[in-house]
Amino acid sequence: MSLNACVSCGGRVVSQAREAAVRHWARQLSRQARYPVIYRLLAGLSICAGCLETLPVIGDDICRHCGRDQESCEGNGELCQDCTQLHEEALERNRSLLHYNDWGKSLLGLYKYRGDERLASFYGTLLAVTFLRYYDPAQFTCITTVPLHGKRLYERGFNQVDLLATELSRASGVPVRSLLQRTKETAKLSKQRGRIARQESMREAFSWAGDTVFPIAGASSYGPSKILLVDDIYTTGSTLRSCATTLRAHLGPFYEIHSLTIYR
Ligand SMILES: [Zn+2]
Ligand SMILES: [Zn+2]
Repeated sequence: MSLNACVSCGGRVVSQAREAAVRHWARQLSRQARYPVIYRLLAGLSICAGCLETLPVIGDDICRHCGRDQESCEGNGELCQDCTQLHEEALERNRSLLHYNDWGKSLLGLYKYRGDERLASFYGTLLAVTFLRYYDPAQFTCITTVPLHGKRLYERGFNQVDLLATELSRASGVPVRSLLQRTKETAKLSKQRGRIARQESMREAFSWAGDTVFPIAGASSYGPSKILLVDDIYTTGSTLRSCATTLRAHLGPFYEIHSLTIYR
């Protein structure tokens, strides 16, 4: 694949041809002050004009907890059906950029199983755009990721989400810290039926793996006190909630745990 080929269709990436689409998305995704940086991030994506124009971006009317598009529901900032049933949440909220459609499924599959470096940069940049769309990076202590079980890591050779976090860190200036480890090997989510089954299998699937000096005592009321948990997709949210519960149990209530994923 040549350097200026589209990561999605393989077509040629011609900057002039996609200028309108870059501007359109930069306007849609940024508040005033963020426009230049979001514009620059989007302009650097290895994606052609046609694919960029049809990016399945989640709109502004979303569930205030999980970030799901609420186009069909009334009122902005309300909870979606699933989130009204959650209680005592360690996970403050989730935000995502794209709808998980067939296009997303095949592109993410390609990345997960082949570890394409250009897709790592592509997805890392999309995460950076999402981070800036919804958050102020200055409020975050660190970025951390959902870990793979040792066996899965060995099979795959790398944790695809770690590469994305590295890219996100480079773009946002927020450091990556490894805070969790997977203690239980869970069946692939795609093989698990239903929400309850997923929640059950995720229970206590993680444990604290950060160093003991984290958090910095007393820093929470002055310095940044949010932690960004990164994953590729929020499906039912049970994985991210399980991670957040583990982080909360170790760090206490002063740190807010927020999650960021590419797909929702
Ligand atoms: Zn394309
Ligand atoms: Zn929701």
